[in-house]
Amino acid sequence: MSEVYQKLKKILSEKFVSNDLYMRHAYSRNVDPVLQGITEYVVRPKDAKEISEILKVANGENIPVIPRGAGCCEFGGSKPIGDGGIVLDMKRMENIINLDEENLLVTVEAGISWSKLNEYLSQFGLYTGCMGPGSGLTASVGGGISHHSVGGGGCAKYGACTNQLVSLEVVLPTGEIIETGSQANKFSKFPFNRFGNGPDLASLFCGDNGCFGVKTKVTLQVFPRPPYANYKTFLLPRKSVETSAKIFTEIRQKGVDVYDAIYIMDLLVSVGCQYGLFPLWDNLKRKRGVFFYVIEANSEVELEEKTKQLDNILLSNKAEELGPEIADGNFAKWHYCQQGHYLFAHNLWGVVPGFEPLDAECHTPINFYPGILKDLDQWDMEHSEDMKKILDITGLRPITGSGPIILVDGNNVELTCGFTSFASYVNGKNYDIIREINLKLWKSILERVTKHGVQWYMMGAMMSRLMVEIGAYPKEYYDFLKKIKKTLDPKFILSRGKFNF
Ligand SMILES: Cc1cc2nc3c(=O)[nH]c(=O)nc-3n(C[C@H](O)[C@H](O)[C@H](O)COP(=O)(O)OP(=O)(O)OC[C@H]3O[C@@H](n4cnc5c(N)ncnc54)[C@H](O)[C@@H]3O)c2cc1C
Repeated sequence: MSEVYQKLKKILSEKFVSNDLYMRHAYSRNVDPVLQGITEYVVRPKDAKEISEILKVANGENIPVIPRGAGCCEFGGSKPIGDGGIVLDMKRMENIINLDEENLLVTVEAGISWSKLNEYLSQFGLYTGCMGPGSGLTASVGGGISHHSVGGGGCAKYGACTNQLVSLEVVLPTGEIIETGSQANKFSKFPFNRFGNGPDLASLFCGDNGCFGVKTKVTLQVFPRPPYANYKTFLLPRKSVETSAKIFTEIRQKGVDVYDAIYIMDLLVSVGCQYGLFPLWDNLKRKRGVFFYVIEANSEVELEEKTKQLDNILLSNKAEELGPEIADGNFAKWHYCQQGHYLFAHNLWGVVPGFEPLDAECHTPINFYPGILKDLDQWDMEHSEDMKKILDITGLRPITGSGPIILVDGNNVELTCGFTSFASYVNGKNYDIIREINLKLWKSILERVTKHGVQWYMMGAMMSRLMVEIGAYPKEYYDFLKKIKKTLDPKFILSRGKFNF
């Protein structure tokens, strides 16, 4: 056994350190198709102290460390870049430390999943507001904070999960442990406020994609779940992209208090129905774009008023309401009442064996996305030769378009666009050919979307490096970012290689 292995074993006990080949490969993958290298060690720490010791060993030996929650990053963020290094699996740290019902705060270990946390909170009539990402059945709170995640429900009202952040416990890349916000005053009794005691240092670690520190403890605001809710699903007129953007804009301009508002484009509805993704809509005669909303209220009168406001907007845009029950195609009801907000995304990823979503998931102002989607049609045509090569091998042509488009805070949407290709193992042959084409096309679509001026929030290895490579960061900004990284992490131990650090 190597000296490093012996040192890690001393910190964690043998059971929670592995350099087994199978484990190393399993922890060198995310949901994207790019194998960037194989880690040398996998460790599963139980607390901040162990992580601190691991980071000290890594600094001493100059070995990179990659924090990993559930490994759901779509851009290769939680696996090594290049061979070697230590993957730090946070999933053992999944305890609820404290629920403060009086002050509406919950403190958890960073490896807990959004679904476990919200299931626990539901016993008290509470929830996290933004329910984390669509991957929340497994995705961790620490991963969500590292990405500014949105999408698992509630983000039209509450925005990204980082909006609800109160305080973090973070192990810095050199091993020191700090707490942010109100905890920067050592006389504070418990974390209760994010802002103050100097600059908002929690923000430094929000959306850092695991580069600036390892989050070990997270305190979030929690909210009482309102007792009344309504959920409706509408079929939009043909070619509904522009109409959907108009509806989102009207919702914001009229100041309607909506919990979720989501649009699913025509192409996804028809292809999704074909592959069994939307059994609720099997009987729909016209497979067109769908728009649904969820509203919450504290009284029947309030609920009725908000429903009227939203229905007016939808009906004046010629939307057709589907029936009230799930069996009538009311996706919104399934989404809100049956954890559809998580199930939907999990189903989407597994819909066809070998299906490979090459995502360009980003935030844009509402009025940008129709133009971006039009440009993606153009991009698809420009790349028809490569698409045909994949068709010839797999029997299926990749599809360019968008997944659900979700209203988030401000006048923004989360635009899950990109193309779905097929994995390189689809026929056990042609591995390298498909992988190479996929990668080339993926980089090309990401660059194209970046040039629309979008905001990336989950960057991983792929997007953080591409931003540097295509010169999207202004020099002064990038230099500043690198200076912060170097100050915190002089040997670039944590997530080495991201942002080309
Ligand atoms: C089916 C599916 C649906 C998805 N839906 C959405 C969606 O709706 N919205 C959305 O935003 N994303 C979505 N994603 C992407 C992804 O799941 C989320 O961004 C999620 O928040 C990642 O959490 P995770 O625990 O899997 O993190 P990981 O993928 O393990 O890690 C994410 C990043 O955070 C870092 N990291 C993880 N934990 C820590 C920690 N404790 N301290 C420091 N750094 C850490 C990692 O190094 C990595 O850079 C989806 C992915 C899938 C597969």
